[in-house]
Amino acid sequence: MSNKATEKDMELINKYSRRTLKEDEVYTFSVVLCDNDIDRDIEHFDDEALDTLKDLFVGVSAVYDHEPSAKNQIARIYSCGCEMPEGRLTAYNEPYKRLVGKAYIPVCGATEDLIALLDSGIMKEVSIGCAVAKCRCSICGEDMRTSACSHVKGRHYGGKMCCGVLSEPTDAYEWSFTAVPSQRSAGVTKSSVKKWRGAEDSMGEYIDALRKQAEEGRRYKSALRLETVKAGIMANVGIESKLLEKMTAELSVEELTQLKEAFVVKAQQRLPIGAQSRRGREKPEKKERFKEYEI
Ligand SMILES: [Zn+2]
Repeated sequence: MSNKATEKDMELINKYSRRTLKEDEVYTFSVVLCDNDIDRDIEHFDDEALDTLKDLFVGVSAVYDHEPSAKNQIARIYSCGCEMPEGRLTAYNEPYKRLVGKAYIPVCGATEDLIALLDSGIMKEVSIGCAVAKCRCSICGEDMRTSACSHVKGRHYGGKMCCGVLSEPTDAYEWSFTAVPSQRSAGVTKSSVKKWRGAEDSMGEYIDALRKQAEEGRRYKSALRLETVKAGIMANVGIESKLLEKMTAELSVEELTQLKEAFVVKAQQRLPIGAQSRRGREKPEKKERFKEYEI
């Protein structure tokens, strides 16, 4: 995750520092800020939005209590770019694209713990705060917030799932570290982001909160793994539970979610038709979806 800062990196970093920093005075790392895949709010950015955000995020600081002020700024993005890992597709079958920021943290006593956490790889995710002008319906193209679009996110229309397409970003406010990624949302910074408030040692509290989140993330993953194994048994695909357990051990949250969904679909196909149509009339349950970003 961390790379040694190159001369070019230092040049960009020093645009933001009051005095010229040396290579060993900064810790640099990459973060995936967002992507074009469907998030847990059943929304995704369109590709053009990622290109716009690429410019908007340069110079933006990470905050740790969501109250931007000089003392809360712990890391800053000094360059930003879009990546398309070869062969990877989104949940809606389009080429996957992500926005990766390069950030730096000044190396000092106050940032020691945070750097150790970043080095350990526990904190792979960040949440972002940005504003977008539109959240278009993937079915009819109308703005879901202002138009009379009657499609419901998560429901299928003619075989296609409706989701909100976040377009035309107008601002990037902030980003923050989170061991369990929070929702992204348009217009305002996310309400689900925990606030870390405190006195002088708020950095310590922040680190503690991140550790707690990491633990919650681990618990979530192990529950998801169990559900995936159960769904696999229900799907009756001819794989024994022991093998399912082994198969799921190394999967990421994203992969587990996909596999579980595939098993659930398969299991539902095995159910009598009556049960399926009853299910169809139920309001779709809003699904929690955690994302894991790996660089
Ligand atoms: Zn619509």
